[in-house]
Amino acid sequence: MARLHWFRKDFRLNDNEALAECITSAHADGDGSVTALYVFDLNAFKALAGIRQHSLRAGVAALADSLLELGGELNIQQAAGGLSAVAEAVVRVAQAAEVKEVHAMRLFDPAGVAEQNAVGLALQAAGIFLRLTGSNYAVAPGTVLKASDGTPYRVYTPFFKAWFELLPAGAAAAPKPLPQLGQTWRSPLVAQISPSQGLPDCTEAVAFEVKAGEAFALRTFERFKKRALADYADDRNRADLSGTSHLSHALAHGEVHPRTLLAQLGDSKGEEVFRKELAWREFYADVLWHNPESLNDYYAPIFAKMRYDTGEQSELRLKAWQAGKTGYPMVDAGMRQLLADGWVHNRVRMIVASFLVKDLHLEWQQGAAWFERHLSDFDPASNAHGWQWTAGTGTDASPYYRVFNPVMQGLKFDPNGDYVRKYVPELAHLAGASAHEPWESPNGYSAGYVERIVDHGLERQESLARLEELKALR
Ligand SMILES: Cc1cc2nc3c(=O)[nH]c(=O)nc-3n(C[C@H](O)[C@H](O)[C@H](O)COP(=O)(O)OP(=O)(O)OC[C@H]3O[C@@H](n4cnc5c(N)ncnc54)[C@H](O)[C@@H]3O)c2cc1C
Repeated sequence: MARLHWFRKDFRLNDNEALAECITSAHADGDGSVTALYVFDLNAFKALAGIRQHSLRAGVAALADSLLELGGELNIQQAAGGLSAVAEAVVRVAQAAEVKEVHAMRLFDPAGVAEQNAVGLALQAAGIFLRLTGSNYAVAPGTVLKASDGTPYRVYTPFFKAWFELLPAGAAAAPKPLPQLGQTWRSPLVAQISPSQGLPDCTEAVAFEVKAGEAFALRTFERFKKRALADYADDRNRADLSGTSHLSHALAHGEVHPRTLLAQLGDSKGEEVFRKELAWREFYADVLWHNPESLNDYYAPIFAKMRYDTGEQSELRLKAWQAGKTGYPMVDAGMRQLLADGWVHNRVRMIVASFLVKDLHLEWQQGAAWFERHLSDFDPASNAHGWQWTAGTGTDASPYYRVFNPVMQGLKFDPNGDYVRKYVPELAHLAGASAHEPWESPNGYSAGYVERIVDHGLERQESLARLEELKALR
């Protein structure tokens, strides 16, 4: 029987359970032919900012190249019209390839679940079975439960301990190799099936070449191990150093499986901390799986009753935050890094998120939506819960009254001001740490940097006062 593998967020050939199962099953059937498919949801694609479009496109192009090297071909369909159009495209190609089973990796976030449900139903109506296998997690969401009562964890540290116990042997062994392909790949003439095929055009140009793909991800990990892993525990919070792996894009698109990374980690301090960061990603995916509404709603529902700012002034403040023009150097550098690179350092994500919620009194969802549009490593669970954690409305036991001071954070995590000067040219003339406090220099504003749009000290008090109001409602 011929088989079809529908690539989703699994842009890799190695350590890909669903793909391996598809190929192995095709061989076992005696037919051995496999069709590979990727479907662009054009509506969703067009809503993305330039860098996100380019990075998704580059990821699919790299996947197509690696299939070509094996003598295969990736059929790329463009579906305009949302979920039903995606489902129609999968059915169309499955029918043209004459398959009875479509293989794909299971997704766990609400959009991924809705997509696999829609595709599964459309295939079923055509007499074709959708087989979902594997995930982009070392331990699939929904698996880690408390031994005491079988409920999910709501706090990271005990989750990590239980997760660590459940790490599959694969995490310690070599990743599963791709079964021998031989002449298995099959390319139905998709041009005859649909005129909308191939990579879609991006709507905006970007200033640099966006690199993506499985081979690039594996090289990035190799470089990280040599370059920064040993000092990761100390340097990962420094915005001015390249102390982290920059693998978030690859993990979000499934260009590398976390198992592949975990399998290579030992017990040094840097390796332990890196393993814990990978576990944060798995924790948030687990929390979102159990609480799909927390993608947009408050994980701690009481915070929906908090007083947030709305109206013309708050719209202007939101725009200043988005453009990196709040007058707070560390916040502005972070927001400009997002626009320039489609990636922001984790510490700086926390600083800008805290500023939006605690200094501008806006709701976390407004910031999360901006991140979603621009972050090339966008991940629904890590984004929603990274925001909720920082806003103080999420999984952390830590209280809402934790308010990041953007100046102190800047001085601590960018002590020489290099990060700020890199992204905010209006501060480039200020030497060393003075770039963090232009108001202290006689020429601080001589290159046109904006004045502070709010007073952090006052807004911190305001934030805490609103928390007291909320407590009184309980
Ligand atoms: C407000 C906010 C929004 C965020 N949105 C996203 C998002 O959309 N996508 C995303 O991948 N990460 C998100 N993060 C988490 C984190 O900022 C990024 O994963 C990290 O900066 C990526 O850089 P890196 O790959 O060099 O990380 P490294 O430090 O090298 O970490 C390795 C990997 O561990 C995972 N990881 C590390 N820290 C976290 C964390 N705090 N939460 C979850 N996973 C983590 C990532 O997959 C990362 O690639 C967000 C954090 C905050 C505070």
